Amino acid sequence: MIDQLYRKAILTVSGQKFVEDIVRKQGWGLAQRFVAGEEVDGAIAAVRELQQDGILGNLDLLGEFVASPEKANEFAEKVLHLLDAAHTAGIPPYASVKLSAVGQGQTVDGQDLGLTNARRIVGRAREHGGFICLDMEDHPRVDQTLEQFRILVGEFGAQHVGTVLQSYLYRTEADRSSLDDLRPNLRIVKGAYLEPDSVAMPDKADVDASYRKLVYAHMAAGNYVNVATHDESIIEDVKHYALAHGISKEAYEFQMLYGVRRDLQKELAAAGYRVRAYIPYGRDWYPYFSRRIAERPANVMFVLRGMLKG
Ligand SMILES: Cc1cc2nc3c(=O)[nH]c(=O)nc-3n(C[C@H](O)[C@H](O)[C@H](O)COP(=O)(O)OP(=O)(O)OC[C@H]3O[C@@H](n4cnc5c(N)ncnc54)[C@H](O)[C@@H]3O)c2cc1C
Repeated sequence: MIDQLYRKAILTVSGQKFVEDIVRKQGWGLAQRFVAGEEVDGAIAAVRELQQDGILGNLDLLGEFVASPEKANEFAEKVLHLLDAAHTAGIPPYASVKLSAVGQGQTVDGQDLGLTNARRIVGRAREHGGFICLDMEDHPRVDQTLEQFRILVGEFGAQHVGTVLQSYLYRTEADRSSLDDLRPNLRIVKGAYLEPDSVAMPDKADVDASYRKLVYAHMAAGNYVNVATHDESIIEDVKHYALAHGISKEAYEFQMLYGVRRDLQKELAAAGYRVRAYIPYGRDWYPYFSRRIAERPANVMFVLRGMLKG
């Protein structure tokens, strides 16, 4: 309960314009703990460095909701550039995209612009033999994201596009089973947004229990699971569950964030598990950085100490 209160407090404070202005001005040095650079070269360098420890990359150009079709198209072009740059550098183009950043909810020529741009992005990833994961955002976007995911899997195949389910939402178990017919590649997370108690579980113990249930159910249904968490007890339980149920290490992977628990990422990779780090880069780092601070009380001290020094 305390964890959830802390998270809500930080997400509320970081949503204030004056806090954002201060952190944006002084915080880039600190944000670099979680963000691989402002340009694509930094992200590609981070992938190469992680490769030395046997860790795979999941590239993420930072950016969230945009209100104009021009900005959405501009963002989509940058994602296409990222996929091309990774391909040229000999890195399999595996990336994450927020549909709100490429125009979800804006209608152009009778079509949702988010879906139009997602088609271009997943299409390009497929050309390069890559994969796109549609990140999950706050709860009002879940229905549309899942509908668009279904369409994209139908057009491009589940081996080129996946999405994310959040264990803190009451609805998620039903969402997971409703997707089973697609044999989807899903990333399971706890959930990072400020959500009302009417839609998201307020108690961390319930969120953790729901997380385990979702991973086990998705594995038991024979689907590929991205176990995206830094929670060591969940990671241990998932390893045991897989072993006890004859699920091979090829049927799932562990995912963690760039700059968080690198020790654990290395340890799992060395033990033969597939491990992928989510590597964000770009100039629009503030919302991503705020969510990382909200996840752990020690992180807020790291920011305050850094700002006082700076
Ligand atoms: C690869 C990946 C992709 C994600 N994609 C999405 C998404 O699309 N949508 C979404 O809503 N959320 C996403 N998330 C965020 C997720 O919802 C959680 O907010 C986040 O992962 C923290 O929860 P946890 O599972 O690590 O467990 P927690 O119980 O929060 O943490 C477990 C332990 O991990 C450590 N830890 C966790 N976070 C941090 C941190 N920031 N800094 C330092 N230590 C930390 C702490 O020591 C903590 O005790 C993603 C997370 C990952 C790893």
